[in-house]
Amino acid sequence: MASNGVDEIKLVEGPAGYVLEDVPHLSDYILDLPTYPNPLQSNAAYSVVRQYFVDEDDTVQEKIVVHKDSPRGTHFRRAGPRQKVYFKPSDVRACIVTCGGLCPGLNTVIREIVCGLHFMYGVTEVIGVDCGFRGFYSKNTVALTPKTVSDIHKRGGTILGTSRGGHDTSKIVDNIEDREINQVYIIGGDGTQKGASAIYKEIRRRGLKVSVAGIPKTIDNDIPVIDKSFGFDTAVEEAQRAINAAHVEANSVENGIGLVKLMGRYSGFIAMYATLASRDVDCCLIPESPFYLEGKGGLYEFIAKRLRENGHMVIVIAEGAGQDLVAESTDQQDASGNKLLKDVGLWMSLKIKEHFAKQSVMDITLKYIDPTYMIRAIPANASDNVYSTLLAQSAVHGAMAGYTGFVSGLVNGRHTYIPFNRITERQNKVVITDRMWARMLSSTNQPSFMNPS
Ligand code: ATP
Ligand code: MG
Repeated sequence: MASNGVDEIKLVEGPAGYVLEDVPHLSDYILDLPTYPNPLQSNAAYSVVRQYFVDEDDTVQEKIVVHKDSPRGTHFRRAGPRQKVYFKPSDVRACIVTCGGLCPGLNTVIREIVCGLHFMYGVTEVIGVDCGFRGFYSKNTVALTPKTVSDIHKRGGTILGTSRGGHDTSKIVDNIEDREINQVYIIGGDGTQKGASAIYKEIRRRGLKVSVAGIPKTIDNDIPVIDKSFGFDTAVEEAQRAINAAHVEANSVENGIGLVKLMGRYSGFIAMYATLASRDVDCCLIPESPFYLEGKGGLYEFIAKRLRENGHMVIVIAEGAGQDLVAESTDQQDASGNKLLKDVGLWMSLKIKEHFAKQSVMDITLKYIDPTYMIRAIPANASDNVYSTLLAQSAVHGAMAGYTGFVSGLVNGRHTYIPFNRITERQNKVVITDRMWARMLSSTNQPSFMNPS
């Protein structure tokens, strides 16, 4: 069997050391063997770059640090242009959709899919689907050209609009068939990529030659396998402005507390990295690390201690932290079925104020800052613009080569194609027994809140 495809491949120990063993259903991830020469052969870069095309057998190892006696584990196909492509550029009719919450870099990805298809492959038919999955069957589409997307990367949000809910697989695939679309680019978070996977499976069931490519989006960095998600750097950078403001406020009064709520429903990466970057934060609270308020070693005790020592303090709390403590928990869900969280920032600011008023130990002044929607809505910074551009280029190369059922993602610093199921089967979380959390703790010198009395 040709070893072309995007499925992960496993390395097993054979007589001549480690050998590649293709998983049996590899053909699920290719539409057919590519037969057309890649038009990039006439590209200027082709004559300059020593090895312009990626060998279809090139792989990237998932785990970079491997114990000497353990199997070398999963590898993913390396992303990039292939010598031959499956689609004849003049036959391509591509569409792009964005779903889920806003994230810096969405417009950059859209721009590069359009420009990459156009300038690298000569594809001219690209349409944008309005307002998420439901846009396939209930909204209009918009024609996308390099001209219409030329400066969208400088704007926040998504020019296509987005939505939650409304994923009706069979209506969506009907629409893809009716419009004769043969490349579908789906940009969104974990829910979106589950939706993308359902579309991919239905397309295969119907035997359509349509490539489905995902570009994972999550400002929280909670998608597993990949090194980081686009928009994360921008979010951490923008969070600094809120933390700075909280620090200025806290520092300007006696016993001032600045409380900042940052994104992170289930994963505290933004809070952790923003804390490490800022160095003004005294306490960082994330969903993965439980904490308690009252008693010895609790949050109140730590606040009092830090105020006595420094006269002010800054607390950063991720939106999913301490949900077990927040009174009247809710079973409410959003349109996509995600549990609605209580506003822990607001709750926490009231609790701290109440506590110190009740104890009359010291008068405090607390200022609560919630920059969440401001952070989500800004354009990507330079590094996220580069990253988003490369993710989009990888997706275009993969789809043109005839790969399907994959997302493009960075693994150990290399661009790869990852099967949908690998990024939707679990969430990436801060591991509080790992070094990074220990580094964060030593930067704030906060208690671990591990032993309630
Ligand atoms: P984020 O949570 O980062 O904002 P997301 O992609 O997870 O992004 P959701 O609102 O959960 O955002 O989902 C986006 C879209 O994916 C919605 O249209 C939703 O209907 C669809 N979706 C979510 N989960 C599934 C699923 N299990 N199967 C099919 N479609 C899904
Ligand atoms: Mg989600």
